[in-house]
Amino acid sequence: MRELARLDRKDTILLVDDEKMIKQRLKDAICKDFDILEASNGLEALKVLSANSDKVAVIVLDLVMPVMDGLQFMETFRRYREYDNIPVIVATSNEDWHTEQRCLEAGVWDFVMKPYNPDLLRFRIKNVIDRSRMIMVERDTVTGLYTKYKFYRAVHSILSEETDDTFAFVRIDIDRFKMINNFYGVKEGDRVLQSVASELRRISTAFDRFVYGRVENDVFAVCMPFQEENIELLVKALQINLRRANKDYNIKISCGVYVINDDAMEVSEMYDRAFLAAKSCKGKFSQSIAYYNESMVENMRQEQFVINEVNRAIDEEQFEVYLQPKIDLTTDCSYGAEALVRWKHPEKGMIAPDEFIPVYEKNGIIGKLDQYMWRSVCKLLRRWLDEGREPNPISVNVSRVNIYNPHLVKILRKLITEYQIPPELLNLELTESAFIEDQDLVMNTMSSLRRLGFKIMMDDFGSGYSSLNVLKDIEVDYLKVDMKFLQDQELSGKAEKVLTSVIRMAKWLHLPSIVEGVETPEQVDFLKCIGCEYAQGYYYAKPLTVAEYEQYIAREEELGVKSSADENVAIINDLWNTRSSVSRLFDMLETPIAVYEYRNEKIELLRTNTRYDADIVFEREIDEGEYARRIQQEKESLRETFARVARGDFCEPMEYELREGIWYRATVRMIGKRADTMLMMVTLCEISAYMQGDKR
Ligand code: C2E
Ligand code: CA
Ligand code: CA
Repeated sequence: MRELARLDRKDTILLVDDEKMIKQRLKDAICKDFDILEASNGLEALKVLSANSDKVAVIVLDLVMPVMDGLQFMETFRRYREYDNIPVIVATSNEDWHTEQRCLEAGVWDFVMKPYNPDLLRFRIKNVIDRSRMIMVERDTVTGLYTKYKFYRAVHSILSEETDDTFAFVRIDIDRFKMINNFYGVKEGDRVLQSVASELRRISTAFDRFVYGRVENDVFAVCMPFQEENIELLVKALQINLRRANKDYNIKISCGVYVINDDAMEVSEMYDRAFLAAKSCKGKFSQSIAYYNESMVENMRQEQFVINEVNRAIDEEQFEVYLQPKIDLTTDCSYGAEALVRWKHPEKGMIAPDEFIPVYEKNGIIGKLDQYMWRSVCKLLRRWLDEGREPNPISVNVSRVNIYNPHLVKILRKLITEYQIPPELLNLELTESAFIEDQDLVMNTMSSLRRLGFKIMMDDFGSGYSSLNVLKDIEVDYLKVDMKFLQDQELSGKAEKVLTSVIRMAKWLHLPSIVEGVETPEQVDFLKCIGCEYAQGYYYAKPLTVAEYEQYIAREEELGVKSSADENVAIINDLWNTRSSVSRLFDMLETPIAVYEYRNEKIELLRTNTRYDADIVFEREIDEGEYARRIQQEKESLRETFARVARGDFCEPMEYELREGIWYRATVRMIGKRADTMLMMVTLCEISAYMQGDKR
């Protein structure tokens, strides 16, 4: 609509002349073709112009006038770059070539002789309008700066000048400019761009050689002699100006610099290099300038390489499954593993996931790689099942791309059907941030998967934005706590408290937790103390090849940890013999322990150790009736837990207050089984200090 209106409208001519008669005659001659604005001297003309700068198509200027004459007018007029594309025609009555030369130097486009010949005048006006329209493509209409096309030519021409200076190509863009446009409107966006442009204009006057333009929507570029301080000043000036001009919101600019060491390089390539540099400071609040260096190209090449190679790598099975065991902290033996991808490239050797996973996540390829991994893990589980082993669950990573894949549920269902895998053997790790973005969609997918029998783990919990609060709305089966908690500080102070509350909170929600990145025995102790159920980390095992993992499991079995329930029977028998060495050891342990027999839901206390008697057993003073009542109560509280342990269900330790302020955590383990009689060991751990810490 606006375009149409402009087409219909006549072009506007500004007539600047002090002689009323002449002006009138002129008006009569051209008013049919043009709209007319008038001024009677240079100063008045500047005023009219500033109120109508977007309208005036041509200025017809008298030279001899009072207040401010034609040449003085030109001098001021030329300083405004936004008037650059308004042509000026000088009306002159003397044929003095000297004046004519000065006019041309001042930027006058054409001349007409007084008295006017109306036809000739109309013709000349039309002519300069056409020429200025041509030039408009070299000028950006919003800011009046050079367009990309014109700017590149200008860069080319200053670089071809004879000079010893090294130049810099600077690319400046406004972070989150789209947001300004969306939030505050296009007009406000234009205003921001204009303020950058006018600051660039101001700065340009301080340099001899300084070309600049607006090369894209919110991107400006400058080519200037290279000096680090000057570039810093430039960016600072732009930043300060933007802050001053926009008090309501913060605008940050990012600036990429390429120091030109090859003048013959295509300008567009200089731009690309500055852009590559700018990317490295985009979104970082503290950094606004980044210099291009060769390693950036190397990184880009590397990215390109891993993208190009992915199909071949999948076809040739270069990606391999590594398995990192997860450790059950109540037994210290492994309970399944996480599958992690490793790339064994035929020429480059081992490529770490950090080098390709982020790239694949960026462009969606990760979806395909994930599925390749899932299939590999299914094949592996199938083999183990066929070999008659009883594998524990293996978890696989599910990237964000796949969560948004509408076929995800179908794909997974198809896989486990194809390989005949019980769904509870394939656990799914979903990164925390995925849960936040599109909660409804993720929730729906999760429920479908859980209904099919898959177990879901929330991965990297605590690495991003989620609060403990989101946990209560999200249906997952396990919480994987990000390793940053362990690595942040030496376990002390805040990190420790946070980790403790995360684990506690998870317990309230009946979510077992797995803490990642466990590297030291101190960390293990701490995790056991706060009741964390599982751990994963170098302390126990690095990610292993499948063969190594199989050996690892075999060794565990050999050591008898896994089948302890059967093999410990001999030890248990010794326990009843109070003079046996096992029994003496039992009594020496600094942990309160009680052993119960459990059969057909009946509980019998068999044996307690010395520490148990000292710390736990009730005061001697109480009468027999009261004693029996308490024993009964204790049995009641154990009954449910024993039933669950007997069924092989996951069972979290119980926390209870023994006396005012004295808290214990009881962990139950089945240590022996014969027919329908089970031996249950209850280990107690005093946690009063942690509970108090909690309340403090
Ligand atoms: P993640 O899922 O958080 O995996 C855990 C990472 O921590 C693994 O790194 C593992 O090797 C490392 N790690 C384990 N224990 C320790 C420890 O004690 N200390 C330290 N410092 N690190 C430990 P990895 O294998 O390099 O994988 C990095 C990330 O790449 C993974 O983080 C995961 O996000 C992604 N990834 C790996 N394999 C796959 C995959 O098959 N599919 C998808 N989508 N992502 C994968
Ligand atoms: Ca993971
Ligand atoms: Ca993780």
